[in-house]
Amino acid sequence: MDAIAEKRRTAEGRSTAPSHPYDPAYDPLVAATPGHGREYAPTYWIGTAGEPPPDDGPITHDVDVDVAIIGSGFTGLSCAIFLAEEYGIKATVLEANRVSWGCSTRNGGQAQCASGRLKRSQWIGRYGLDTALRLHAEVCEGMETFKHLIRDIDCEPQPGGHLYIAHRPEVMPALRKEAAVLREVFKYDARILDAETVKREYVDDKEAAGAMHEPEGIGIHAGKLAFGYLRKARALGATVHPASPVEGWETRNGFHYLRTPGGTVRARAVGVATGGYTSQRLHPQLKNRLLPVLSNSIVTRPLTEAEREACNFRTTQVLTDTRILRHYYRLMPDGRVQIGSRSAITGNDAPQKKYEQKLVDDLYRKFPALTGIEIDYSWWGWVDVSHDMMPRIFQPDPAQTVYYAMGYGGNGVMYSAQAGRRLAALIAGKSAGPELPIFRSELPFPNVREMVESQAFAPFRRVGQWFLYRWYHLKDDVF
Ligand SMILES: Cc1cc2nc3c(=O)[nH]c(=O)nc-3n(C[C@H](O)[C@H](O)[C@H](O)COP(=O)(O)OP(=O)(O)OC[C@H]3O[C@@H](n4cnc5c(N)ncnc54)[C@H](O)[C@@H]3O)c2cc1C
Repeated sequence: MDAIAEKRRTAEGRSTAPSHPYDPAYDPLVAATPGHGREYAPTYWIGTAGEPPPDDGPITHDVDVDVAIIGSGFTGLSCAIFLAEEYGIKATVLEANRVSWGCSTRNGGQAQCASGRLKRSQWIGRYGLDTALRLHAEVCEGMETFKHLIRDIDCEPQPGGHLYIAHRPEVMPALRKEAAVLREVFKYDARILDAETVKREYVDDKEAAGAMHEPEGIGIHAGKLAFGYLRKARALGATVHPASPVEGWETRNGFHYLRTPGGTVRARAVGVATGGYTSQRLHPQLKNRLLPVLSNSIVTRPLTEAEREACNFRTTQVLTDTRILRHYYRLMPDGRVQIGSRSAITGNDAPQKKYEQKLVDDLYRKFPALTGIEIDYSWWGWVDVSHDMMPRIFQPDPAQTVYYAMGYGGNGVMYSAQAGRRLAALIAGKSAGPELPIFRSELPFPNVREMVESQAFAPFRRVGQWFLYRWYHLKDDVF
């Protein structure tokens, strides 16, 4: 611990500089770790968040700690915050690259009242009404946890709710049905708006055939939020070590030995918060448990008054559309438009210009007045999609002090705060939370279980993903 305290003093006042450039082709199903000291992705958030706050520098020799957290995204940092605040435990957070280098500085900044990719009606179908109601309570509590956590972080919040825009008229009956379920079963005040109201009072998205408005939803500046979490975690006594990828993991006599390039961290308990950046080799309990999926995002230059008028941007609420391969978009506080959606399948393909161009074309289709507008920022990141589309906060082996929180499936900006809190409880030896499948079962394998152990499994999943994307495209825009 002394070594860490010493490192902390030397690192005080500055953030650790990157030692390697950003790797645009990184692929979690291929690489052994997400890198070592890599620079951030060139996102709007990093470009506009200001200097990253000080951190505790890389691990430089062997250290002995109580709790190590692997991954310094929203999940890892919020877990460190709650461990300190609620249990007096000062965690040691290990990050492969710069702090919050993964999803947490690449997302769309949409804090929605959701976790995982399933709708409320799908919760009822899968788990039954009682469990679905408890899940709803958990997600609403998560929203409150998130609001409380960000109350003193200047992350440019854009509150007001979430507008879920029907991208064509055929989806309106299903949207009406979902809104009725939300109102009548979950007592959650979702309202249906017709196309004219959406275009007149919210935004003139040319595709909009109507929308469902839900009361919860906050847009945030992802970089400022990540940096705020970092400051908060360190102020509470946690240490955060960038450029410290866990490259090997052994467990002996109840201790975990996490090998990083600068030294081995011996920990009594380990929380894994590596999200879509979890490598296949990190821990056997996590191999093949996630399907990391790429998502692209672009940000325009600030709109002129005339462009803003032409798009009738009257809302700064967070927006998504009803495609299975949905778009997430909004008008930012500085007058730019951000939009994101699915991208390539492999890391090698991700840098191809055609994926950015597809998103640009999607932007033009929704807002023809923006045709030709300069795109100031373009990036992508790996979303942690689980095989049943729901997250898990879980201790996979009761005999081992290893715990994980991941699988939010593109809905982790808000829920990672609650998941970090639940993970902290587990690490502190408490129950994660109420009786819910997300706390009581491990991340599932895909159905074809015997394929999991085969080396060819990851490529197989990607072939499946390729076919699914084509099928979703036909369902979304053709049939
Ligand atoms: C393009 C994109 C758009 C998104 N948009 C939204 C949105 O609008 N709304 C929403 O709710 N969610 C969104 N998400 C998801 C959201 O960003 C995440 O759920 C959230 O940030 C929580 O991330 P996390 O902390 O679990 O993981 P991450 O932020 O990915 O952090 C994991 C960290 O673990 C580190 N790591 C991995 N392996 C190791 C190792 N071996 N040793 C040390 N460190 C390691 C990685 O370097 C990484 O920094 C989006 C994601 C992407 C990629």
